[in-house]
Amino acid sequence: MNNQEYEKAVKQLNLYSYHYYVLDDPITTDEIYDKLYHEVLAYESTHKEHILDSSPTQRVGDSISDGFTKAPHLSRMWSLEDVFNSEDLEKWLTKTYKLDKNISFYCEPKYDGASLNLIYEDGILTQGITRGDGEVGELITQNVKTIRSVPLTIEYKEKIEIRGEVVIFKDEFEKINQDRAKNGEAVFANPRNAAAGSLRQLDSRITASRNLVFLPYGVGENSLEHKLLSQKMAYIYSLGFKKPPLSATCSDAKEIQVIYDEMCANRDGYEMMLDGMVVKVDEISAQIDMGYTVKNPRFSVAYKFPAIEKITTVKDITLQVGRTGVVTPVALVEPTNIDGVVVERATLHNFDEIDRKDIRLNDKVIILRSGDVIPKIIKVLTHERNGSEAKYIRPTFCPVCKSELLDEGVLLKCQNLRCEARVINSIIYFASKSCLNIDGLGNKIVEALFSSGLVKSVVDLFSLTLDNLLVLEGFKEKKSQNLLSSIESAKGCEFWRFVNSLGIEHIGEVASKTLSSNFGSGFVDATKDEIVLCDGIGEEMAESVLEFVRVNKDTIALLQEILKPIEPQQRVEASENPFKDKTVVLTGSMSESRDAIKEILENLGAKVSGSVSKKTDFVIYGEDAGSKYDKAVSLGVECLSEQQMRSKIEQA
Ligand code: NAD
Repeated sequence: MNNQEYEKAVKQLNLYSYHYYVLDDPITTDEIYDKLYHEVLAYESTHKEHILDSSPTQRVGDSISDGFTKAPHLSRMWSLEDVFNSEDLEKWLTKTYKLDKNISFYCEPKYDGASLNLIYEDGILTQGITRGDGEVGELITQNVKTIRSVPLTIEYKEKIEIRGEVVIFKDEFEKINQDRAKNGEAVFANPRNAAAGSLRQLDSRITASRNLVFLPYGVGENSLEHKLLSQKMAYIYSLGFKKPPLSATCSDAKEIQVIYDEMCANRDGYEMMLDGMVVKVDEISAQIDMGYTVKNPRFSVAYKFPAIEKITTVKDITLQVGRTGVVTPVALVEPTNIDGVVVERATLHNFDEIDRKDIRLNDKVIILRSGDVIPKIIKVLTHERNGSEAKYIRPTFCPVCKSELLDEGVLLKCQNLRCEARVINSIIYFASKSCLNIDGLGNKIVEALFSSGLVKSVVDLFSLTLDNLLVLEGFKEKKSQNLLSSIESAKGCEFWRFVNSLGIEHIGEVASKTLSSNFGSGFVDATKDEIVLCDGIGEEMAESVLEFVRVNKDTIALLQEILKPIEPQQRVEASENPFKDKTVVLTGSMSESRDAIKEILENLGAKVSGSVSKKTDFVIYGEDAGSKYDKAVSLGVECLSEQQMRSKIEQA
């Protein structure tokens, strides 16, 4: 890099920062920002005389937008130096040990959100201030007061600054974006931007509606006397702040790496987005001795996780036809390696999404791959367009059977019941885990069975013979026998599996269980009025059941005859007790298996659900209760230990 390139890079970084911090709408990925930042840093280390005051290495990133009153922090807020692999972490440790040999480390998540400083005086929250330039931030106390995990009062009476990150949990983020999409508003690129944007609203009611969460990670001015940061943090949590999902004290690089690996492996399982792990010297006296660079504390480092957002190009849009005939567009993108996996496709959900995001062929886009979820396009980089991009034209014919599509606006549907894609996908669905769970009936095999003419509908599966299968390519005796026996073992399944496997529109696993426990095989004769009386089943679902039964009565009877699903035992109405008709969530490990506890509660008339929401009546927790417990506390849901649950049952 020469001086001219250096100045250009600084300008570019500042432009990226403006979009990221001020507009909460980034125009590049963190990875690209970080790469350029480190090139600038490398240039500056050998050209100290050229360092520009405006360089992002010289100041904490956020800018302050007009509209908020400015407020100074009592003590400065900082950024963090970052490392991206174990060698760089070792280098950081060597540098740190040079400053003090007798140190240990406190590790906690690096939350991907927006920094916030809380000032408490005489135990009362008096100010909430964004990080701003580190010395002065935006005064957003009214907004902060709407965050339920920020205590308005604390037991500690001295003046104290509590620093932390404001985040939006991933499921809440999805909900916000769904609502915004429905209302025709621009969706947020990621939870970080959503959190930062929601925190810095001029109207506190908007902030309040977004369910922000505050996670403390340190203190600024304080007169706490703990010798270790880990002790200080334990004290802060005890004042009513949320704990991190994982934290640990470590004595060396090896232990740090173990915690990092664990956190990184579980990153998708945490409710909030993490972009790394922060390693901090645990001894407060050593922290004070080490001090700060112009931008970062010397006693801590962000050990970043591999990037999950990348820039790529949309090469084409292909169409998939599902078992219900819905045509789903899928983007084919320039193959891109994301955290070790080469991504070639990204989901587009539906045709509205293409219009709303204005995704064009040849567009440069940011894609996100997180966990098992199919990668998705989170942003179109419209500023990178050069005229070679082409608008996508909605199809009017089914790409598989060529019949005319029904255009319902958001959805396009193939109406041909015999469309090959629909039939193949309904067989795959029939055999899937939440239906009949037939091992060995994956996509490829179903396609082979269909194209050979052996299986034209699910009913045909049950008349397959060994001789039939042996003529298929790749089918030797063992594989064929295995497939036949797993098809055979679907017989005598639980009744709800049978209902679910029928693939009735709008009726998934939960509704199948409800129909099954309420009606058993009588569900085919149930009236609309009877069906809508079932918990969780609305009019549209009931109509879908009736319509399906009307059209498919004979097939249902035939399949029932073949499968002989076991009729559910009719539940006896539970007598009055504290759990009757209540929604309960279980978390943590208990003295018996979860299924056993679930059964106890279901026999008492409770509905056991998997996730905590405002509608949850009780969360019952065992040892090592995790994020569900935290969520319950933040929502004010009553939490009972397993012991308390048992006492309540005994007293009833
Ligand atoms: P940073 O976000 O990398 O690290 C410092 C911040 O981490 C702290 O201020 C704090 O808010 C937060 N943090 C979360 N958990 C923490 C914990 N446990 N302990 C301490 N701090 C914790 O630094 P930054 O200066 O805010 O931002 C720089 C980063 O932002 C870059 O590395 C880049 O990834 C990203 N960025 C991206 C763009 C873009 O266009 N995509 C632009 C600018 C910056």
